Amino acid sequence: MTDTDTIFGKIARGDIPADIVYEDDEVVAFRDLNPQAPTHVLIIPRKPIPTLNDATEEDAPLIGKLLLAAARLAKEFGFAEDGYRTVVNCNANGGQTVYHLHVHLIGGRPLQWPPG
Ligand code: AMP
Repeated sequence: MTDTDTIFGKIARGDIPADIVYEDDEVVAFRDLNPQAPTHVLIIPRKPIPTLNDATEEDAPLIGKLLLAAARLAKEFGFAEDGYRTVVNCNANGGQTVYHLHVHLIGGRPLQWPPG
């Protein structure tokens, strides 16, 4: 099994369906199946980087694009000014369940801090 065999790799390749809200050559964004807020989107690189720990200097522009896509989507969804949260979970203690790097974009209601 390779990294690309995660469910997100399959979504990025178009092998399984997702509610895609943005995509380009390098990035895909789709709605989370189990939303934690009125809007909960996952933003992934097409490149299958398993965790943030596996990202290299070479990936810096790509990771920047994930965050810029989050900010752009927050504006499009209309909650950029009210505010929102971006989260990258890493490994077991971070709560990561899918080992294809992803940024959660969560917005549309006030969010508690700190999270659980
Ligand atoms: P994490 O815990 O950071 O690895 O986040 C994984 C997220 O992926 C969870 O919020 C799940 O609800 C979500 N998820 C899992 N499978 C799918 C899927 N097929 N389509 C959309 N979201 C998914």
